[in-house]
Order: sequence, then C-alpha cells, then structure tokens
Amino acid sequence: MKTANPLYRTGTAKGSDDLFARIGEFLWEQRLSPDPQHYAFAYRIMTDRNSALAKAVATITDGGVRLSRGDIEKLGGTVAPSATEAAAAREKNDGLVAKTQMQVDGFTDMVVAMRAETEDFGRNLAASADAMRNAAAVPDDVVRLTGAMLERVRTAESRLEAATHEATELRAKLEEARDNARRDPLTDLPNRRAFEEAFAAGVAKGERMCIAVCDVDHFKQVNDRFGHAVGDRVLKAIAEALTSTCSGHVVARYGGEEFAILFTGIERVAALDTLELARKAVAAKRYRLRESDQPLGEVTFSAGLTCAEEGEGLGTVFGRSDKLLYAAKHAGRNQIQIG
Ligand code: GH3
Ligand code: MG
Ligand code: MG
Repeated sequence: MKTANPLYRTGTAKGSDDLFARIGEFLWEQRLSPDPQHYAFAYRIMTDRNSALAKAVATITDGGVRLSRGDIEKLGGTVAPSATEAAAAREKNDGLVAKTQMQVDGFTDMVVAMRAETEDFGRNLAASADAMRNAAAVPDDVVRLTGAMLERVRTAESRLEAATHEATELRAKLEEARDNARRDPLTDLPNRRAFEEAFAAGVAKGERMCIAVCDVDHFKQVNDRFGHAVGDRVLKAIAEALTSTCSGHVVARYGGEEFAILFTGIERVAALDTLELARKAVAAKRYRLRESDQPLGEVTFSAGLTCAEEGEGLGTVFGRSDKLLYAAKHAGRNQIQIG
C-alpha cells in the first residue's frame, strides 16, 4: 500500500522511475506546479532523505500540512510565479509599455514643436542679421553677437533634427516590441494572447463570434518519423493554408500543434463552410521532404466549432469547442464537430 507522504516511502527502489514518481507525488501533494524550480526543490529532498532539508520538510509537512511559499523560500527553494502572478506581471508590463509609449509620444511632439519654433527663430534672426549688415549705424559688437547667436541656433536645429529622428525610431521599436509579444515566431501568426485580446475586442463591440479549435492529427508521428525541423515546416504550411482559407478572420497559433480561429460577423453555417474548406485544403496538400522529395503522407487536422452566446466568456466558449475537438478525434479525426 502506498504511504501518503512520498517522503516516508521506502522499500522497492526502482531507480529513477521511483524517484520520478516520488517527486511527482510530492509536487502533487504540495500543490506545486512541475516548474523546474519546484522540481529541483523536490529532487533535492527526494535524493537525500536524511539531509537537513528533507528532515525540515518532513517536520513541516507532518500530518498533511502543506508547505507555504515562505517555507520553501526559507528552505532555500524558489517558488515559480503562479498563473495569477504571471498574469499580474504581464498586466504590469503592459501598463509600463503603454506609459513608455505615451512618454515617447509626448517627447516626440515636444521635440517636433521645439524644432519648428527654433527654425522660425533662426529665420527671423538670419533676416535681422542681413538687415544689420546693410545698416551702417549698428555697432560691430551687436553684429558679431547676432552672428554668434545665429550659429548657436543652427547647432540647436541640427541637434533637434537628430532628436526627432531618434524619437521616431524609438516609437517604431516600441510598436515592434508590442507586436512581437503578440506573434508566434515560428508561423508568424497571432499567438494565444493576441487571440484572447481579439475575442475581448469582439465582446466589447458586441460582435457575433464563433471559435474553432483545430489540432493536427497524429502530429507526434510526423516528428518521430521525419524530425522536429520537418514538423516545424509542416506547422508553417498548415498556418499558411488556414490563414488563406479563413482570410478576414483571426487565425492564431494557440500552442504546440493547436490552432484557434475566431470567426467574426458570420453565421455558424458560414463559419462551418469556411472551416471545411480549410480542412480540405490542408488534407489535400501533398507534403514532401525538401531534400529527397519523399512524401510525408497525409497531414490532417480535427476541429471543434462553436459560437459564443451572449455574455459567455472565452473560457466557456473555448472549453466547449475543445470538447467538440476531442469528439472529432474520437470519431476518427480529419473532421469537424459543431455544437
Ligand atoms: P492527436 O491526433 O491525438 O492530436 O495526436 P498527436 O500526435 O498530434 O498529439 P500529441 O499531443 O501526442 O502530440 C503532439 C505533438 O506535437 C508532440 C509535440 O512534440 C509536437 N509539437 C508541439 N509543438 C511543436 C512545434 O513547435 N514543433 C514541432 N515540430 N512539433 C511540435
Ligand atoms: Mg494537441
Ligand atoms: Mg495533435
């Protein structure tokens, strides 16, 4: 029989398998995610159960008590940020980006205005200097001073021109950073975050929306047989096929070999027709190895499609679509289930 606390479990040492299982149980019991930091902490405990660390953990967790974040940190471990913390950090980061963007915008406007004023001033000064040169009664000192001022204004003008250029570049870089955070680097498709934002924007506008969750069938086999790099190329090709068949709608790479499509402003029948076209387009492609022209065989995807009811959040709609995807897989793959 299994002892509740994996720390106390002894007996059949099945080498690394048993160690792995005990680490897993420990993480589960302590409600710790399998993040590397937590795994490393559990590993230290499980590999030397006579150590001071293991004994301290055993004392704290005796009687089913869970380690607190503070306990873990006091014992020299690191706690991975929870999903809510990660979301809060993301939000904070978004706030910082927006603030920086506003500051850069303000700076650009100020520099542009200063440059225009300096140019005006320089023009007036140059006209006065010309007039003075022609007037006999103006003392030499004043003429010299005006000339020196004119020189300084010209220097200021060229510095302001450089600053305007820098501000414009900074603005472009910020926009690029914002865009990169919402794009999947492999396929160049919008990522999960962009998809979530697009759904929220649709809700705010009161749009009619349907969501398709598409998952490539037996994709692991593609990697296993032809290698990860070929798998990557197949994902890119699928991304292109989905984007062109579903143009006008948001096609995102939601994760791994999973794509999500947000159909906006169309009825569910029209969304289904479009998705069917996409499914057929992907299945009809004849993928071949670049190097040897060897065919990869058929690559297909299964999908679940459902439409958002008024007031429904993304989690609910997505969950329903995901269940339909699961049903499509069970019904034989390369098909769409609608609900
Ligand atoms: P199913 O039809 O049930 O979906 O089978 P499957 O093999 O597609 O599903 P499974 O979840 O077992 O495997 C998904 C595979 O997708 C495993 C993972 O290595 C691969 N994968 C995920 N992301 C990427 C990626 O970015 N590139 C490559 N090449 N493979 C990836
Ligand atoms: Mg999958
Ligand atoms: Mg799959």
